[in-house]
Amino acid sequence: MSGLNPILTCREVIDLLADDLDHSLPVSVELKLKLHLFLCRSCRRFRRTYRKTVGIVHALRGVEDRFDPGILPEELVRRIMMRRQSVGTVSDTLGGLDNEPAAGA
Ligand SMILES: [Zn+2]
Repeated sequence: MSGLNPILTCREVIDLLADDLDHSLPVSVELKLKLHLFLCRSCRRFRRTYRKTVGIVHALRGVEDRFDPGILPEELVRRIMMRRQSVGTVSDTLGGLDNEPAAGA
């Protein structure tokens, strides 16, 4: 009966993140979400990563619209999503890009 429990579980928080991003949560649920996020560092980090990932996906869709419509970046999006789940944070994922050898090095 999570509806009566003022503290959401981490699983419940994850399930609510899409609606949170759309600002479509009822105020009572939003307050529970904020309380959980205040108390749970893991969910705060997950939420931050989730938002960054959604931003990247939207950016990729913009690229798709501007360039060759025959090349769909769905595979790239899928890889980012898989990587996000296995690594933890987008910055970890993108950090790998910084490790590429510099030209002339
Ligand atoms: Zn949590």
